[in-house]
Order: sequence, then structure tokens, then C-alpha cells
Amino acid sequence: MELRILARYPFLKEASERVKTEAIGLEELLTDRAFERARTVGFDRALAALEQGAIPDRPVGGDADALGELLSYPVARMIVSAANDTFLTRRYAIAEAKLAHSRLLREDDAEFLRHVATELGVALTPANGGFSLHFTDFLKFTNTMREKEWKLINQRVGAGVVYLPRDKSVRVLQNAVQRKIDEELPLEVNDLVEERLAAEVQQVKQVLRERHAKWRAQDIGPVRITRFPPCMYNLLAAIQNHENVAHMGRFAIVTFLHHAGLSSEEIFRVFGDVPDFAVDVTKYQIGHITGETSSTEYSTPECATMKSYGLCPGPDALCLTIRHPLSYYRKKVRAENARAATGAPRAEGPASPRP
Ligand code: SF4
Repeated sequence: MELRILARYPFLKEASERVKTEAIGLEELLTDRAFERARTVGFDRALAALEQGAIPDRPVGGDADALGELLSYPVARMIVSAANDTFLTRRYAIAEAKLAHSRLLREDDAEFLRHVATELGVALTPANGGFSLHFTDFLKFTNTMREKEWKLINQRVGAGVVYLPRDKSVRVLQNAVQRKIDEELPLEVNDLVEERLAAEVQQVKQVLRERHAKWRAQDIGPVRITRFPPCMYNLLAAIQNHENVAHMGRFAIVTFLHHAGLSSEEIFRVFGDVPDFAVDVTKYQIGHITGETSSTEYSTPECATMKSYGLCPGPDALCLTIRHPLSYYRKKVRAENARAATGAPRAEGPASPRP
């Protein structure tokens, strides 16, 4: 495959093989003036993904330009890996996938699209001007898309395969690229990478720190975090730190925030720093749990249930007087109101999180 094409799709196996055949050493890539463009573009790639959620689609010129563009991809991955932040990794994967999507949409050659799909583990077959794929692949690569147009029931299905027009097939490939990059990162980075890319990584980390600080300072409607029981405080902190919170944990915090008085929109904003590939899922879950889009308004699990799921980090003194996380919250509200009425000083500090 031509270098110019590989530069446009650097996640392909052939692209990394091409990098190997160029026999460029890591030290050379990270220090040699000849690869300055690759380092600059690689840094821009990581930073643009973080700051804008999108990587600019630079036109690729001659071979030297194409090589710089191709090499910028491993540089960006090294920076993202060295920064070692889950939010950044996901946001980067999404941005690379969006870039691939816009480029693939401009490809006319069905055989080329099939080839890219095969490398991504999607068995696309050209059919009727569009493509077909096995329904299990369709489900696997569209499971984060909740819009009606992506439901299996709304697809043209026959003999176990789903028929998609070309643009929707390319959208499936976007998800496949995102999944691939998300699964590959972070890479192990050695001392050389840490040393040579230290300035770039520091800059990325600074942007991350600023973003994280802004999220933490954000008001969450009428709900005050100092009134949270340790279990909910920990769940919220885990979400804000982009840790993987299991389904039951997400369910518990959504029901808790809902019954504490937050609207679905306010709850969504709490989850707003979950990288945007989960936006659809998050919106769907919140609507479903709060009864906005379902017939059931779910209750917050009681302490016994939280404990059985390993979500109780261990009770504090107030926990010993209640059996439900919402009782904890309401007791705190009453105590604060009583103190305010008597003019007594307010107890300082948040509900203490537990490891
Ligand atoms: S005892 Fe109940 S309210 Fe307290 S941390 Fe455990 S689950 Fe939460």
C-alpha cells in the first residue's frame, strides 16, 4: 500500500510494518532533527484530541510529508501512554476514530473499505451498493449506539447478515477503530520515551489537571457533596477520576442523585466527563433509571445491598445509625439545617471517602 495511504490510516497493521521497514530507531525518532515534524504533529495529535476532541485532517503531500504524518501516530501514542490518564486515552481513541471515519467516508473503493474492515476484525462484504456484515459483528460494534436507527430491529437483515448503506458501514468502522486503539493503550513506555517526551507529556498533564480541577469544582445543582455517605462519595470520585465503575455502582449513584433532587440533566452533567463515546449509553441509563424513559423509577439500593455488591467502603459513625444511603444524606441535611437555625458553626469537610 502506498505510503500516502498508510499515513492516512496509521492504525493499520501494514502501517506499523512500514514503520519497521524504514528502520528508524526509537532514539532517532525522538531526537533526530529529521523527525521533528513527526514529533510536532504527534504532540498536536494528542493535544488536539484532549482539548478539542478531534484531530485535524491534515492533507498529506509527498513521501517525506507522508512519512512524518505516519510517524506522528506512534509519537502521539507514546505521549498519551506516558501521561497515563484513562480519560485522555479514551478521548484520544475517539478522536483518532473520528479522523479515520472522515477519511474513510471519502474512499470510493469498496474493496479498500473491505480490506480496512478485515484488519479491524469486521467482516464487511460489498453488497447492493453498500455492505453486509454478520449480525453478531453488527451488535458487537454498535452496542454503544442507542439511537433507533441503530437498533437491529430497524436494519435490513437476511440469512444472518445485516445490510448497511456505505455511510453506516463506515460509521461501524469508526467504532472498530476506537475499540482497537482503546484496547491497545496505554503502551508500556521506557525511560527513553519518558525523558525525550517529558516536555510534551508535562504540557498534556497540565491541561488534564486544569480540566480535572474544573470538573471537581463544578456545582452539581442543589446537592452538596459534604452530605454524601462514604459509598456515594467514593462512587462519584471514581467517576470523576474516569475509573471503571461497574454497572451496579453507576446504578446506585444515579438513583441516589435522582432521589437527592437532581434532574436527569444535572445527573448527566455529573457524568459529563465520561469520555463521549459513552454519552449515548449514559443518557439512556439515566433516563431509564430515573423513570423518564421507562415505566419504573428505581429506588436507591439499601446498605445491605450495597454491602453485598462490595460498594460499601465501611461505615462511618453516622452510617451506624442508618440502613439506607439516602437516610444518611437526609440526616446530614437535617443536622445542617438545625445548626443553621441555632447559629452553630457548620461541621467542616466532606463525608470521608474510604479506600
Ligand atoms: S453503611 Fe450504607 S450509607 Fe454507609 S457507606 Fe455503607 S452503604 Fe453507604
